Amino acid sequence: MTGFITRFAPSPTGRLHLGHAYAALCAFEAARAAGGRFLLRIEDIDTTRCKPEYETAIYDDLEWLGLEWEQPVRRQSEHLDDYHRALERLQDGGLVYRCFKTRKEVMAEIASAPHLAPHGPEGPAFTGTPLPVSRERRLVDEGRPYAWRLSMAACRERLGAAFDALSWREESLQPPHTQHRHRARPDLFGDVVVARKDAGTSYHLAAVHDDALQGITHVIRGADLRPAAGLHRLLQALLGYREPVYRHHGLLTGADGRRYAKRDQSVTLGHLRGAGHQAGDIGALIQAHAERGDLVEGHYSND
Ligand code: GLU
Repeated sequence: MTGFITRFAPSPTGRLHLGHAYAALCAFEAARAAGGRFLLRIEDIDTTRCKPEYETAIYDDLEWLGLEWEQPVRRQSEHLDDYHRALERLQDGGLVYRCFKTRKEVMAEIASAPHLAPHGPEGPAFTGTPLPVSRERRLVDEGRPYAWRLSMAACRERLGAAFDALSWREESLQPPHTQHRHRARPDLFGDVVVARKDAGTSYHLAAVHDDALQGITHVIRGADLRPAAGLHRLLQALLGYREPVYRHHGLLTGADGRRYAKRDQSVTLGHLRGAGHQAGDIGALIQAHAERGDLVEGHYSND
């Protein structure tokens, strides 16, 4: 057993499809090849989109695929206090501020001065200004909902020269796992939301926290999340978390060239099973995609 620990971290917002199977198998096989550990984590902070039946189906589908993972499975919805404490540390450091704006207001503000918006992986990014304390207090007292945004200006001030020097380590998916260092450029995300109005945390904060807590040495996930590594590196630096190595796999696409999404019912593992496929066929189906060129680098999206 080496010190290698990786994970598959699906969100139970739909049935797993062939692309998820590829992601899960990449992580599982990597752990096996390294003689390391494979964890399953349920990323279910979005209570409006996550459903218990999808979570049950995840266990079922992964078992069918022949995967084995350690117990207990970490379910993020059971650890919101942890993410709150991580947020408090950012608050104590003066690194976050309350943002009361609606999504529409944020979009309008970006559109009114597009030349000022950094163009990040999530599109033109928002940079705000904290409200004066008295006005902020009034809005809080009125019960107006707010998100917490990470102030890139405050982060830059806190980290000094280290902010611009931040980098993250990637290694290739396939052996010999050649390593590269990339500049992080978290500034391109603008003042990213680290705690959503509805969830009290964000995917970014919860995932970075859990990867550190679970001792993940290798984050293996889709190329759609490659740009997020730079932001995750910043959060690790701010919170004093150890830096993992990242590996990214390509994304499977359908005949229309678009990456599979949860709406693509015909490639869910449930459908494939129902159509008579055996678990052993899944590797061949993925391989067929790769040979057709339907395995591409993705663009960042939160879907
Ligand atoms: N929960 C994320 C997703 O389903 C995975 C994030 C990650 O691996 O860091 O896309």
